[in-house]
Amino acid sequence: MKRILLIGAGHAHLAVLRSLLKEPPAAARFALVTPRSKQLYSGMLPGVIAGHYRRDEAEIDVARLAAAGKVEFIEGEVIKLDPGEKVAKLAEGAELEFDLVSINVGSVPERSLQGAGFALPVKPYESFLERLSKARLNRVAIVGAGVSGSEIGMALHHRGAAVTLYSDKVPLWPPQLEGVMRRMRVDVRPGMPADAIERGPVVHAGASTQEFDLVLLATAAAPLPWLRATGLPCDERGFLLTDDMLRSIAHPDVFAAGDCATPSSGPLPRSGVYALRQGETLAANFRSVVSGQAPVAYRAQRHALALISCGRRYALAHRGNRSAQGRWVWWWKNHIDRRWVRSLNGEKT
Ligand SMILES: Cc1cc2nc3c(=O)[nH]c(=O)nc-3n(C[C@H](O)[C@H](O)[C@H](O)COP(=O)(O)OP(=O)(O)OC[C@H]3O[C@@H](n4cnc5c(N)ncnc54)[C@H](O)[C@@H]3O)c2cc1C
Repeated sequence: MKRILLIGAGHAHLAVLRSLLKEPPAAARFALVTPRSKQLYSGMLPGVIAGHYRRDEAEIDVARLAAAGKVEFIEGEVIKLDPGEKVAKLAEGAELEFDLVSINVGSVPERSLQGAGFALPVKPYESFLERLSKARLNRVAIVGAGVSGSEIGMALHHRGAAVTLYSDKVPLWPPQLEGVMRRMRVDVRPGMPADAIERGPVVHAGASTQEFDLVLLATAAAPLPWLRATGLPCDERGFLLTDDMLRSIAHPDVFAAGDCATPSSGPLPRSGVYALRQGETLAANFRSVVSGQAPVAYRAQRHALALISCGRRYALAHRGNRSAQGRWVWWWKNHIDRRWVRSLNGEKT
């Protein structure tokens, strides 16, 4: 009986859990370790901030999903992994042994900006929401105008905040995003990166200095520090390097997927839709390994659909070079997101 340890309840592992519900492999015993039994779905987070959803409507009951697939659920945070000894250490001190391990722990916002400690990072979502709910939100700055920073900015504006968004990028992606944000009255500043944050909090950007009630950090994805400490090969930033089968390039018993991994064939966008598709390949490969067959290669979709909520019940859709926007796009996104969360919670979709 192979012991397979899943670390993190990211999109990829949620897809694995869903697949185990349908077809559990006979010769494997699965365990999942993650810090929280309930996981907030990132696609609905801006809707929670905007007030369109209650928090519980955007939560996935991971412990329940694991139990339904006969996967042991362990609440804990991995702080160390020894791939040679095949053991993972938790913050609380416990050690978990495995024959095969899969890592899907996501990422955190990059914190190299001077004074980043004066800002509130948007991940982990749970602590972010908790601190946001206690903060004064009249004037909010967001550092980073990727899709997540932009969605959070428009959601906060919908709740009445004056929002300023600093970005090193020109133009923003997708190309329609800047115009939509201006129409939603977000003060977006493409090509104006924040240089430093200081107590106040005050943001310095070029010649401009401005004080806010709160500064949010929605910068590019950065790896969790313990990944590099595993000794497994990483890219220059510290994300685990994987082969086409989603295994570490140095260790066939270590799989990694989602934001925490970089395929050695070339980096992928760090977004949930890619992680989800990787989860389907992971599930197939666990079955192959258990039954002594060769694992299959992951093939990324050429274009992924981005659905971006814009504060009020209005959204922007973008795929390849096609784009659409309107209230109907929001209702479409709402339908997809709710169906996904309900399907994982074992509710009718
Ligand atoms: C506001 C916002 C909105 C977004 N909207 C979208 C969207 O609409 N569509 C889209 O495709 N992408 C979206 N994204 C991006 C997307 O959330 C990430 O790219 C995606 O979550 C990455 O998925 P993942 O599978 O790598 O891990 P994640 O989904 O980030 O999950 C990581 C898991 O690992 C767990 N974990 C972390 N550390 C440890 C540890 N040490 N030990 C054990 N477990 C650990 C976490 O608790 C979590 O369960 C959004 C991001 C944000 C911030």
